[in-house]
Amino acid sequence: MAGKYSDCYFCGGEVLAQRIDREIWWLGKLHLVQGVPAGVCRQCGQKVILPDVAKAIDRILEGKVAPERILQVPSFRYPESRAM
Ligand SMILES: [Zn+2]
Repeated sequence: MAGKYSDCYFCGGEVLAQRIDREIWWLGKLHLVQGVPAGVCRQCGQKVILPDVAKAIDRILEGKVAPERILQVPSFRYPESRAM
């Protein structure tokens, strides 16, 4: 949809409508929402999510939508001996 997003706030580049995946920490758990409509700046990659889309994501996170699937993800801790 042309003109849905205004030019990039940061660099003035053209912002294209795309679908992105969002990883969000919510109540101490990682949540993945795939296929989120968003604007992505073709110059700097900055992502823009419209208020209506953000509201829909909030509804999903509030547990009003059943998850499509539950994923298991590998989790690591950076070794203490290599800390700066
Ligand atoms: Zn930009």
